[in-house]
Amino acid sequence: MEASLKAKSAFGVLLLEWFGKNGRCFPWREKKDPYQILIAEIMLQRTKADQVVPVYLDFMREFPTIDDLKAASVKQIKRYFATLGLLWRADRIKQMAEDISERFNGKIPSDRDQLLSIPSVGDYMADAVLAFAYGKDVAVVDSNVCRVIGRVFGLDWKKEARRKPVFRNIPSKLLPQGKARKFNWAIIDLASVVCLPREPLCLKCPLRIICEFAKETHGPPTSGARALISSGKRSKVILR
Ligand code: SF4
Repeated sequence: MEASLKAKSAFGVLLLEWFGKNGRCFPWREKKDPYQILIAEIMLQRTKADQVVPVYLDFMREFPTIDDLKAASVKQIKRYFATLGLLWRADRIKQMAEDISERFNGKIPSDRDQLLSIPSVGDYMADAVLAFAYGKDVAVVDSNVCRVIGRVFGLDWKKEARRKPVFRNIPSKLLPQGKARKFNWAIIDLASVVCLPREPLCLKCPLRIICEFAKETHGPPTSGARALISSGKRSKVILR
């Protein structure tokens, strides 16, 4: 795997170049407030980002801080989650706000274990807060990210991939230092608009020259592409 990772260490460069031209804009990406990031991530679970945008904006107008949310009734919160078709999230959000207020004095922690101790905060949400709000060099991995990593590296991404350490280790090693926000957004966006679950658009993909799946379906990279892969842009990375 180490050799494979070295051969694909252009991953970050190619991905960030693509994101610079094709990255999507969302209101939660304009902020570094951990509360706003947390709410956005809760709303985004199993819901399309475009659907979330108007609900998120209205929600933030009504509950701009965690104290406002703590003071709200579950019924008030439910109005927003009913729009997204996921009422059960309202109770969870209320519990979360109370817990953060009581145990962390209303401040969302920047420590992973503390984040994971908050009701309903799992690995993905904790890592999203660390990367997007606190700018820590952390890979944010969900099943969509696993699909991209699995295809590029020739790994089986379909069976419980999120639970396999390799799917977290690879993006963690490839993440360019200090660029966690853009790097993670770039994989998320690529998975949403190019590396689609059923029919990936490999011919439009910046990673096609290093991707195992593309090599199998469209043939090996051209000599020009091979030159790019072996260019000095790469960083040395070791995967354990
Ligand atoms: S080349 Fe195709 S399979 Fe590989 S990451 Fe891009 S879209 Fe996905």
